[in-house]
Amino acid sequence: MIQPSDNPEKLKLAAQAVCRNHPQVTPAFVCTACGTAYCNVCAKRIGSTAAICLDCGSLCVPFRDFKEKALLRADQSSRFGVSDFLFALRYPLQQAMTVFGCSLIYGISIYFLPYFALPDAGALLGTIGLIPGFLGQALMFGCASQIIRHLETGHKDSQSVFDITDLLSDIGETVLLALAILIAVGWPLPILLKIGLAGRALFWVSIVWAVAYYPLALTLASLTKRFWPVLNPLAALSLMYKMGGLYWRLFVMCLGVWAAAASLAAVFLLSVLRYTFHPLIVLILALIVGPPIFYANMVTAALIGRALFRVGDKV
Ligand SMILES: [Zn+2]
Ligand SMILES: [Zn+2]
Repeated sequence: MIQPSDNPEKLKLAAQAVCRNHPQVTPAFVCTACGTAYCNVCAKRIGSTAAICLDCGSLCVPFRDFKEKALLRADQSSRFGVSDFLFALRYPLQQAMTVFGCSLIYGISIYFLPYFALPDAGALLGTIGLIPGFLGQALMFGCASQIIRHLETGHKDSQSVFDITDLLSDIGETVLLALAILIAVGWPLPILLKIGLAGRALFWVSIVWAVAYYPLALTLASLTKRFWPVLNPLAALSLMYKMGGLYWRLFVMCLGVWAAAASLAAVFLLSVLRYTFHPLIVLILALIVGPPIFYANMVTAALIGRALFRVGDKV
């Protein structure tokens, strides 16, 4: 009988079993001891959901449930790698229109942030714009968390993961977790400013920290749904330890996705910066950089979800 430790190929084969006497027929039952399968005609039923094996006399269970479990285990024990990367890239496209809509809303939510570049009134507008900017960020992290929790259990569909009504109905939790993630990835910045770091050094040190900590913060927020574990470096280290080598493979894949999204956003930013500051240009800019940022975060979440599914109950 199949075991969780069996290799993926063996599990897939078990899921393709046919009736012992009718090889062309999909089985209705399968023996829990010897693995022999029986169709509806051949099965010696006891009640509607069980049967007795004609070979060894052990209990037989419905084949459909068995197949579902075998395929799930096959998926779980397969190596986390290229197929997951491709799956994650395609995952947000399962709900392409919804994701595109969400990404435009995200883009508009960060509309006012470039106003910080303007003197006087710009700072005021930029500061007011922090509120929608933060809310947009919170909803994006919320969608990412929903993806992680959904995929972590082995699901591959995208039903309801981009549904923001759940996030809005529990807006307190959504906001609190977003705050925790932003603090976790951004706390070195004020300290670096205080010790006098500036220019490129400041930029790179804060970026490296944010990039290194973001997947951990997002994972901790999704799994615990609590504020403090996200900020706890020991929780982050423990998570990395439990994920082992898988974590580093995940991290490299995330880096690839972010590098692509960041270069795309940078190309647009640099090309638009050549023009004089104009509200309409800022709007177009927000609508153009929103989608790649949002998409990259959803892909990141799908990668984390797939990686956690492999780790199973250890986290
Ligand atoms: Zn048997
Ligand atoms: Zn049969």
